[in-house]
Amino acid sequence: MVIIVLVKYVPDMLRVRFDVDRGRVDRSSADLEINPFDLNALEAAVRIKEELGGQVFVLSMGPRRTESALKDTLARGADSAFLLEDRKFAGADTLATSYTIASAVRQLGHFDLILCGEKTVDGDTGQVGPEVAEHLDMPHIACAYELNVTRENVTATCDIGMERCTFKTSFPALITVTKDINIPRLPAFRDRARARQMAVRMMGAAALSGTADVARFGVQGSPTKVYKVVVPSDEGRKGKIFRQASDEAVDEVAERICHLVSPNNCAGDI
Ligand SMILES: Cc1cc2nc3c(=O)[nH]c(=O)nc-3n(C[C@H](O)[C@H](O)[C@H](O)COP(=O)(O)OP(=O)(O)OC[C@H]3O[C@@H](n4cnc5c(N)ncnc54)[C@H](O)[C@@H]3O)c2cc1C
Repeated sequence: MVIIVLVKYVPDMLRVRFDVDRGRVDRSSADLEINPFDLNALEAAVRIKEELGGQVFVLSMGPRRTESALKDTLARGADSAFLLEDRKFAGADTLATSYTIASAVRQLGHFDLILCGEKTVDGDTGQVGPEVAEHLDMPHIACAYELNVTRENVTATCDIGMERCTFKTSFPALITVTKDINIPRLPAFRDRARARQMAVRMMGAAALSGTADVARFGVQGSPTKVYKVVVPSDEGRKGKIFRQASDEAVDEVAERICHLVSPNNCAGDI
């Protein structure tokens, strides 16, 4: 069983800044961490490998500094990690991102399953997984929280809003997973030491030119145009401590709630 796991490194969302003028996230302004849902996808892949045998490849598209971070995926049980890195990939929307990733998947050769997170914590579109499957013309199942994989097929139980559905497909297929599918393992010290010795394999635009149209990479291949980025102002919490006797405090709290809910029907002004 050959499984490819798609992994995106996302900025620490509590620290990252926005380039409002250019309508972009300034990814250099914060440390990168693995998208949490992708850790679940990787854990699912490694468990399948442990049960059925095979290999797990990790594929990521991102800046050069992702290279060292990708070693964490090797420590967590991936056999090889590939980084798509090239200036030509910059400024990609989800369509160009999924096209580039699908082109790299073709380049990697035979595989049975692609696993990815249901969404990222920065872009949060949930589009890349299904789009990759469409580019590769193969079935996909979204938002799986339970997987049963045999050598012949895969059954996935999915959380679709108010509904829970079970789907079955043969290989190759792409499945996006939720955080409920498993609890990702923590790599042991010896796994980290082993991963430090392993190389992350780099892939640039030239490496894909045999299987892809380079005009569909990066900003050139992105039909999405961002006209304006607005960062909502953080007004903070408006707390108040009531220090008077409890009866008076209760009256005042009730009055304040009344003014919030139904300002024209309150007993008195506050
Ligand atoms: C006009 C425009 C310009 C942009 N320019 C840039 C830019 O210059 N630099 C930049 O970093 N982003 C840029 N972005 C954002 C970029 O489009 C998204 O980061 C990317 O397409 C992934 O979308 P998402 O985060 O919504 O992923 P989702 O669709 O929510 O992700 C679902 C799953 O797909 C997989 N996945 C997603 N992205 C990747 C990836 N890169 N590598 C491997 N697996 C992945 C993961 O498994 C993930 O859990 C731009 C977006 C727009 C609209």
